[in-house]
Order: sequence, then structure tokens, then C-alpha cells
Amino acid sequence: MALQTLADAFHDELRDILSAEKQLVKALPKMAKAASSEELRAGFEKHLEETKTQVERVEQAFEETGKAARAKTCEAMEGLLAEASSMMEEEADPEVMDAILIGCAQKVEHYEIATYGTLCTWAKQLGYKAAYKLLKANMAEEVATDEALTALSETVNAEAKA
Ligand code: FE
Ligand code: FE
Ligand code: FE
Repeated sequence: MALQTLADAFHDELRDILSAEKQLVKALPKMAKAASSEELRAGFEKHLEETKTQVERVEQAFEETGKAARAKTCEAMEGLLAEASSMMEEEADPEVMDAILIGCAQKVEHYEIATYGTLCTWAKQLGYKAAYKLLKANMAEEVATDEALTALSETVNAEAKA
């Protein structure tokens, strides 16, 4: 199906982020398990719960498009998560692994922030008010998660230096 309008592009991009969020629901428990820092593990578990809600918000955001809420494989997230899982297989000191996990997680959050940024801009331009609010809520959680990871990196990475 050809993408003829901004509305078509919006729907396609929603399908992409739906796939990305669903991939994260599967990946975050593995990242939590690989973390040694109690705080980092708790952070991943918290974001897992947020991510499940994000999937629901994205599904609701399809309503104004009048089209099906069907995911379309996000290859970028597949790539980011493939990289994260190969790093998790590396032999590393626990504190070093935590620093690596934070780095992998921040790449994921930045991808999400970029995508939600685009989606919010398009939703606004298309007059999709409900979708805009839902996507903005997801974006706020991704930004907060990214900031929490940066804060955590200050303590976790200090331990990894030793
Ligand atoms: Fe997310
Ligand atoms: Fe994508
Ligand atoms: Fe996220």
C-alpha cells in the first residue's frame, strides 16, 4: 500500500512504535535479570510496567486514524536489542555490565524519544488530539526514564571504574 498522505505516514509510524514497545516488553525482563545493581534492576522493572501501559496507549492512538492497530516490525529496535543481548553474553564484571546495560537502555530510550517526537508533531498537524495526548504521555515517560538512567550511571559507573 502506497503512503500518499501524512496520515498514511503517521499510521505506518504508529505501527512501528507499537512493534518497538512490544519488543521492549519482552526484552526488559532480560535486562533486569542481567543487572546487578538493585536500583538498576528496580528501574528496569518499573519501566517494564510503564511500557505495558505504553503499548495500550499506542493501541488507543490508532483510533483517530480509522485504521487497524497492527504492529509492523521495527527493525531499528530489533537491531538495538540484538546489540544489547550480544553485550549481555559478554564476560564482564557486574558493575561493568551494569554500566553497559545503562548504555544499551539509553540508546533504546533515545530511539523512542525520537519516534514519539515525530509522532507528536504529525498528530498535531493532523489534528489528532487524542493521539497527541497519548503519545505525549509516552514520550514523557521515556524522557524521565532516560534521565533516571543518567542519574544511575553516576553511581553505577563510579563503581565500575575500580
Ligand atoms: Fe516505551
Ligand atoms: Fe522503528
Ligand atoms: Fe522506554
